[in-house]
Amino acid sequence: PKIIVAIDGYSSCGKSTTAKQVAKQLNYAYIDTGAMYRAVTLFFIQNHISVSNPKEVQKALSDIHITFRRHKVKGTNDTYLNGLNVEDEIRKMYVSEQVSTVSAVAEVRHALVAQQQRMGKTRGIVMDGRDIGTVVFPQAELKIFMTADPMIRAQRRQTELLEKGELVGLQEIAENLKMRDHIDTTRTESPLRQAEDAVFIDNSLMTLDEQVEMVVRLADE
Ligand code: C5P
Repeated sequence: PKIIVAIDGYSSCGKSTTAKQVAKQLNYAYIDTGAMYRAVTLFFIQNHISVSNPKEVQKALSDIHITFRRHKVKGTNDTYLNGLNVEDEIRKMYVSEQVSTVSAVAEVRHALVAQQQRMGKTRGIVMDGRDIGTVVFPQAELKIFMTADPMIRAQRRQTELLEKGELVGLQEIAENLKMRDHIDTTRTESPLRQAEDAVFIDNSLMTLDEQVEMVVRLADE
């Protein structure tokens, strides 16, 4: 039977890279919830929405429609905000700088969690984020909590950004990851934490293949 695989953990610890491969091997759908929070953040930046103004936030949320569409060549999902492909834009540093602040807003979380739960109605899903095993799908059959050494995470993130043509110093990236982890773990609304029944994986010294194999094996059990 098809299951729900929930992958949570700190920023840039390889969750989405692993999740994507796991979904491919299991022939499951993959949902990147970080992309959804990033798309909301992009909308907030573009429309100068103040997170401290509940009315503005509510109105903005009702104007935001996030969808995923398969990229024919890459074979992966691209994120669309109100019909526009924002896949590249949402990964940029200026979005990363604001995303954790926007993600800490309760109304934002309620709206996105509801959409994520609807997406999970079709079983056979790998979803990654910060609160998937704790809030979105507490009933998930397999929960993974991933982490890696902060310097290794910063290096991986730098390579990712470079591949997209954005050159950012290691120090700046490390600081951004640290800031996001701090906001994510200390916010009042569903802070990042390991679910009691999650399998803990520190992948600092693991290859991508090893991580994927491990999660696929756990999913098959
Ligand atoms: O996964 P990614 O690093 O792209 O997520 C960007 C940010 O979105 C995180 O730093 C976190 O603040 C927020 N996020 C969240 N809950 C999720 C997924 C992401 O708060 N389920």
